[in-house]
Amino acid sequence: MNENDISMERQAQDLKSMTLPELSEFMKDLGEKPFRAKQIYEWMHVHRASSYQDMTSLSRALREKLEAYPLTVLEQVTVQISKIDGTRKYLFRLDDGNVIESVFMRYEHGCSVCISSQAGCRMGCRFCASTIGGLVRNLRPSEMLDQIYRICEDTGEKISNVVVMGTGEPLDNYDSLLRFIRLLTDENGMNLSQRNVTVSTCGIVPKIRELAKEKLQITLAISLHAPNDEKRRDLMPIARRYDMEELLAACRYYFEQTGRRITFEYSLTAGKNDSAADAYELAGRIKGMNCHVNLIPVNPVREREFKRPDQRAVVNFKNNLEKSGINVTIRRSMGSDIDGACGQLRRGFLETGHPGESE
Ligand code: SAH
Repeated sequence: MNENDISMERQAQDLKSMTLPELSEFMKDLGEKPFRAKQIYEWMHVHRASSYQDMTSLSRALREKLEAYPLTVLEQVTVQISKIDGTRKYLFRLDDGNVIESVFMRYEHGCSVCISSQAGCRMGCRFCASTIGGLVRNLRPSEMLDQIYRICEDTGEKISNVVVMGTGEPLDNYDSLLRFIRLLTDENGMNLSQRNVTVSTCGIVPKIRELAKEKLQITLAISLHAPNDEKRRDLMPIARRYDMEELLAACRYYFEQTGRRITFEYSLTAGKNDSAADAYELAGRIKGMNCHVNLIPVNPVREREFKRPDQRAVVNFKNNLEKSGINVTIRRSMGSDIDGACGQLRRGFLETGHPGESE
């Protein structure tokens, strides 16, 4: 069995990955009253209990019985806190020893958590640190949720937005992603509004279409990063499987099905995709779509040669898109004084065995 199979087997008995009806069935099979399920569900998803022993409204006998099904709770290895803006980057250890990273950001409109959906990633985007060691395994729904729960507990803050933009390709872990979203937005649990959840994908077209049919109210962010297939294929292997026309058609379909405006992410790399011609070509491709472009000056990754454009080039690119009638924002860079790009904290840890030595 590989690490993924082992993890899936764990999922069948992972109480924190179960919906409330599933947990009720599970409790019935254990010979317990179904109302116990509601109590346990609240302990896990509302009170964010970190052990069965903390679930004090359950009898001691039941708590002992539950110990046979290890509660998924992530262990905080480290947290790096930005002196500039209070951004916190967490490294968590999973129960099989793998490590993942998550980020907490404070904005004017509330607090946001960026979570990982996989340990590692197999998509191979050239500028991204998360993919360098390949995919280790998918995360279970409970492991996605618990990143948020542990951060809530650590910061004491109310989390108003969740973005699935950390390590991993969420649509490559589709079933667990959907279950995660349902649990996160369940009125009996954390009860986050679907509108406050964003899922970012490199563009797995059939999965975008499948997701559209779910008619969720989440925001879909597409990592576009290039104005045409030639440049996109140079940066992202997935672009060799699905061309931009197919991808944009799937985005239009997503909007038709859900009424939700698409976000296009565009990482600007000096000399590669940041010219005026690139901006105009991009505008031509997406004009008329109900969309929004988020420009991200690329975070240089040690192992890669990509360079961040200067601020003037970024602003010019934005202006050129705006002149063509495209909605656009420049992503504010958060926590720039702590291990910058996605996946770098985890990589530094894997290489040295110590967090914070990757600079
Ligand atoms: N796999 C998903 C989500 C994870 S990455 C996806 O591809 O969308 C989240 C975003 O950060 C993506 O847009 C990704 O392309 C971008 N990204 C990754 N590495 C980056 C880097 N070094 N600089 C800027 N953006 C980066």
